[in-house]
Amino acid sequence: MSHQDDIEYQLDTLAIRTGHTRSFEGEHSEPIFLTSSFVYENAAEAAAKFSGAEPGNIYSRFTNPTVAMFEKRLAALEGAERAVATSTGMAAIMAVAMAFLKLGDHVICSRAVFGSTVSLFEKYIAKFGVTVDFVNLSDLNAWKNAIKPETKLLFVESPSNPLAEIADIQALADIAHANGALLAIDNSFCTPVLQQPIKFGADLVVYSATKYLDGQGRALGGAVVGNSKLLEEVFGYVRTTGPSMSPFNAWIFLKGLETLRLRMKAHSEGAQKIAEFLNAHAKVEKVYYAGLPEHVGYELAKKQQMGFGGIVSFEVKGGREGAWTVIDNTQFISITGNLGDTKSTITHPATTTHGKLPAEAKEAAGIREGLIRLSVGLEDIDDIIRDISRGLDLI
Ligand SMILES: *Cc1c(COP(=O)(O)O)cnc(C)c1O
Repeated sequence: MSHQDDIEYQLDTLAIRTGHTRSFEGEHSEPIFLTSSFVYENAAEAAAKFSGAEPGNIYSRFTNPTVAMFEKRLAALEGAERAVATSTGMAAIMAVAMAFLKLGDHVICSRAVFGSTVSLFEKYIAKFGVTVDFVNLSDLNAWKNAIKPETKLLFVESPSNPLAEIADIQALADIAHANGALLAIDNSFCTPVLQQPIKFGADLVVYSATKYLDGQGRALGGAVVGNSKLLEEVFGYVRTTGPSMSPFNAWIFLKGLETLRLRMKAHSEGAQKIAEFLNAHAKVEKVYYAGLPEHVGYELAKKQQMGFGGIVSFEVKGGREGAWTVIDNTQFISITGNLGDTKSTITHPATTTHGKLPAEAKEAAGIREGLIRLSVGLEDIDDIIRDISRGLDLI
């Protein structure tokens, strides 16, 4: 695949063919190199590899052939120069923070980000004298007003979790760049097949590969994607401090990427159908899905995304009791905090993922007691609808 650089392959081809250089065994499927270190013919070769004079593997904390295949394939799907794989999604975000921030720097982060991301900035990165301000992702003036001379990083998750608010990536990139800061996007919900933030000016894209890139709930992993210059900094941090991806997990994600577009298409189609069903349901107060024309982010999502994704949130009548009735009357949908799986999952954010927020903060973030988040899996859509209808009909 890398021999004909003049041919521009389409995403479906890249997802299946990029990254694999066949070994002398002639294997068809990508091999798993479960080895911690690599050996040399002689001392001179070892010296050349260690000094960097010759390319090649030394130790799997630095590079590993299976991990490298995953990195090349993900970068190709993103239309980016380079990707660096990490042990988890949080490790990818930590790598961005540690590679680009120092004492005295300032970060602006959208408020509706993954809970551990908030703790990472507020509790751990803050220990090193980096300050953070949280703003509403769709309020561009709030981002502008939060900018300080020492602002070095803007961090945003779009669509947001769980209310599917959409950030204007191009506008945020302009705000960041006018102030010499970087824009990083957590693209775990869309994946590169539904959104390519670099095209809209983002500098860095981070992933929890644990979600849709695997898509089958098997392995933890993450990645940072961007240009070679920035990614060399991320690579330096990862190879030195050790949050490297396991080769076995890299192989799982490689195989996940092969079916990613088909899965995201099916997740999006299913979610759209369910959002429309819920939108017309008498027991449902409000549906949060950017694929509904009345959603505030609909136009922007249509411009930035190639699909609306698989996460549908909705508020039912009857507050917590109503929400728990829907959740407890499902038969096969998994009650769990995870998402992005072939298996549909259902969550009550107010008492789980957002349970630690004080009541006022929950209200401000729109996390009401009647809110339910559904990650639409790949089961039969009519079966999923029946599974959530059972409880809805009892409210
Ligand atoms: C799950 C998740 C993370 C964290 O990823 P892990 O692989 O669990 O470390 C970060 N961002 C988003 C949007 C997520 O959904």
